[in-house]
Amino acid sequence: MKVYKFGGASVKDAAGVRNLAQIARNTEGRLFVVVSAMGKTTNALERVMEAFWQGHTGEAVVAMQTIVDYHAEILADLWGAPHLPERVRTFYEELEEIITLANPKSRTYEEWYDRIVSFGELISTTIVADYLSFDGTSAEWLDIRRIFLTNSRFRDANIDIEASTPRLLRAVDSSSAKVIVGQGFIGATESGATTTIGREGSDYSAAVAGYILGAESVSIWKDVEGILNGDPKQFEGVSYIPELTYLDAIELAYSGAQIIHPKTIKPLQNKSIPLYVKCFLNPSLPGSVIKEQISKPIDLPILILKKGQTLLSIKPQDYSFILEERMAEVFAILERHRAKVHLIQNSAISMALCIDHSRYLEEIIADLHAGGFSVKYNTDMELLTIRGYTQSQLAEFVEAEGVYMTQRSRKVLRILRKS
Ligand code: ASP
Ligand code: MG
Repeated sequence: MKVYKFGGASVKDAAGVRNLAQIARNTEGRLFVVVSAMGKTTNALERVMEAFWQGHTGEAVVAMQTIVDYHAEILADLWGAPHLPERVRTFYEELEEIITLANPKSRTYEEWYDRIVSFGELISTTIVADYLSFDGTSAEWLDIRRIFLTNSRFRDANIDIEASTPRLLRAVDSSSAKVIVGQGFIGATESGATTTIGREGSDYSAAVAGYILGAESVSIWKDVEGILNGDPKQFEGVSYIPELTYLDAIELAYSGAQIIHPKTIKPLQNKSIPLYVKCFLNPSLPGSVIKEQISKPIDLPILILKKGQTLLSIKPQDYSFILEERMAEVFAILERHRAKVHLIQNSAISMALCIDHSRYLEEIIADLHAGGFSVKYNTDMELLTIRGYTQSQLAEFVEAEGVYMTQRSRKVLRILRKS
């Protein structure tokens, strides 16, 4: 069995869904297909969530309607006439009921977020599974919330792989369909509350499915030729890397390369399952492969730009040294507010941290103040990581204007600068 993951961009329109169907048809053997929400649906659902949370029901309904219209267009194109799968209609009803009738304050922001945003994947997978059947490929839709058991850390849930294993094996074994279609990104707690595992998390869902199923390979279908040494939208003259080790890939993903979600590699590495990054625009291209051993090391500098960073400069108010204990206090606060830390630099009495932009920045700062720290911060920063940097890059990037902080090892150069 193989596992394929199709991201939002690959199913952003009817042509994308047809292309997916063709790729599935042309693949020999059974397939487990993980699909994200179509196009920018997750962002659109985040707008529904914001409006609902603010109590702006009218606005939430309008935002939901754009999502309904968007999918209606894709459905009409695929079926050649207006078409609304029964299950999609039910999802619309559920979502509408939430945004018009539920009291936002009856649950946490995070819990509502997961409940609302998960509809993107529930809808996309229903459309894909129905279309595969309509197109003549036997397919079965799976509600992955009944399979992937997670903890209740909403918006950042962890899949309990052990507990999920028998459920997934049972579901796959009891199906005779060639293609099984499940949602990326979502799961559910023991008590059935819908959870999500973090933005762009579908890669990880696919990796977990691959791990449990002992897949022959996992392929992530993207709109690029394979893995490149930089994002072509951000850097000029990038080139394609045919092979990477699991270790290379983990480092890349951790530094913020958008190509794969950082959590994806571990389960695959644990079972030596190769991960392919393939181009859905041209499936005959070889793509890139991530595996244990590669034939030749990467000889290109790899550039990764992580935007939306905030720099926190933290000092104990009493000028006591920042030692382990105090660092632990700082990290406990960050962990409580789920801040993701990407760069750490400390001196005798100060610590500088680069974190992802957080909606809880005010709370983080307040808690640090309460803990006896003084804090300065700069938002709108970006973190540039260059693996295998050259001397000329060192000169060019370190000396540039707007650089706040640099960190350098023999292999890796990291620069925090103003966006
Ligand atoms: N649809 C979700 C997102 O856009 C998950 C994913 O695409 O991996 O973040
Ligand atoms: Mg997506």
